[in-house]
Amino acid sequence: MSEELRELYQQVILDHNRHPNNYKQLPCPTHTAEGYNPLCGDRIVLAMALCGDIIKEIGFQGSGCAISKASASIMTSAVNGKTVGEANILFQKFQTMITSDLGTRLDRVALGKLAIFAGVREFPSRVKCASLAWHTLLSALNEPVSTQ
Ligand code: ZN
Repeated sequence: MSEELRELYQQVILDHNRHPNNYKQLPCPTHTAEGYNPLCGDRIVLAMALCGDIIKEIGFQGSGCAISKASASIMTSAVNGKTVGEANILFQKFQTMITSDLGTRLDRVALGKLAIFAGVREFPSRVKCASLAWHTLLSALNEPVSTQ
């Protein structure tokens, strides 16, 4: 493994892969979506319960590589309790981070734990693994569960 790859698969990512946060089914989700990354085979099912504009509870299940699972784990923790607007801003910062040039300055304070995925920029094939959970989050926000 090259040093860059080693850095990408840091301990934090490996730990989240082994013991992901919010890996659960929600009893009464208001929004759900499924995401699939054919390049790697990562699959995720995301569910959340919105109360007004606030993401009150969020959980995911699925299978995939360490990066996709760790990203889902950290993303769900990052947006839990936030408003939909705040989650969108965080998504934009994350997307900028993983797709920008190496020299670009990152808003590490706002990114918090998400900043560990900055190394993904060097591996274009891994960008989709890291962003799958986020794209699934956006789909879920556009797919309210029908309550009849
Ligand atoms: Zn993957």
